[in-house]
Amino acid sequence: MKPLGPIPPGFTAVDGELAIGGRRVSELVAEAGQTPLFVYSRQRIADRIADLRTAMPEQLKINYAIKANSFAPVLSYVSTLVDGLDIASGGELEMVRASGFDLSRVSFAGPGKRDEELEAAIASGVTLNLESENEAERALAIAGRLGRTPRLAIRVNPDFELKGSGMKMGGGAKPFGVDAARVPALARKIVDAGCEWRGLHIFTGSQALSAEAVIDMQAKVLDCADRIAVEAGLTLPKLNMGGGFGIPYFPGDEPLDIQAIGDALTDRLELLPETLAEAELLIELGRYLVGEAGVYLTRIIDRKESYGETYLVTDGGLHHQLAASGNFGTVVRRNYPVAIATRFNAEPEEEANVVGCLCTPLDRLADKAQLPRAEVGDIVAVFCAGAYGATASPSAFLGQGPAEEVLI
Ligand SMILES: *Cc1c(COP(=O)(O)O)cnc(C)c1O
Repeated sequence: MKPLGPIPPGFTAVDGELAIGGRRVSELVAEAGQTPLFVYSRQRIADRIADLRTAMPEQLKINYAIKANSFAPVLSYVSTLVDGLDIASGGELEMVRASGFDLSRVSFAGPGKRDEELEAAIASGVTLNLESENEAERALAIAGRLGRTPRLAIRVNPDFELKGSGMKMGGGAKPFGVDAARVPALARKIVDAGCEWRGLHIFTGSQALSAEAVIDMQAKVLDCADRIAVEAGLTLPKLNMGGGFGIPYFPGDEPLDIQAIGDALTDRLELLPETLAEAELLIELGRYLVGEAGVYLTRIIDRKESYGETYLVTDGGLHHQLAASGNFGTVVRRNYPVAIATRFNAEPEEEANVVGCLCTPLDRLADKAQLPRAEVGDIVAVFCAGAYGATASPSAFLGQGPAEEVLI
């Protein structure tokens, strides 16, 4: 037996079935006309963002990193609840443009921005978080050619990282950002070149569940930003402090204590150095805002036995759920929260493996899970599917194509 991850709060049963936003999954699937189906809940997104705002200092702005989930209705909805959007490609810029969001509240980070992407961003008034000196040169040249004043911030590769984070994005040699020691000179250079100076971006990692680690990281980010500003002889109009807020995916994971983070940050903001006195402070989050609001529903197509083990074969799989399958940067495969949605109230009575329909042994959704007995036609729910599901899975693999998505 292998345990399953914790089902996020807020999901209940109606007539024995999992309900999302008060609606039974069989009803949602019937309406969508097919499985596999991602269902995202407006209410769960709204509650999450409201709770976060309550816990954080009032002046802290919250940005949404759209790569977590850029499904147009989700993007439009989240846009109404946050202060800004973070994008990481020209494709995401077009999605944000299509949503009608104010592009002056968008920032664009990410290595390897092409000239066309820089041009589209500058022409739209999007802030560029510069990833290198070379990118700065190119951005200034393009802005000169367009006759525009570019909005420029510098992404810092700091000399520390977010402890215990799932994906480390700072500390030591990295493709992201400019090494902290070289940032003051670059900042002076772009300010002297006449850009609209938008400050610093310091993102150190993702998926932290320890409040202590986040508090420690935020304190270091503020110190690092101050040191850079002092050395450059500049004040900071804006500081993007990164994010890193994680959600529980696996057995034993505990939710992040956001109140502890908010309290520590509130104390800290009373002692801001002069360089940051006027700065707009913000955090940028993806999965924390939308991850738990999504459920992936897939139907059992076959039930079979092999050498004494039971396999529930579904019509979904890693092509929509790369992370749940364990193939998205994980070393040891652990189970996500998974349930038989159409028997949500039933007691577990057998051990089964839930697999996808791809012809590869990598396509696993739950190993040796204790589940109610499920039959062909039952619907399986994979929770925590609101972030990095549809956007980060290889939906073209084996010609399967993307899943349906719906925001309710
Ligand atoms: C991916 C990314 C995020 C969002 O990460 P989450 O773990 O989803 O919160 C935020 N900022 C940057 C720069 C990123 O690359």
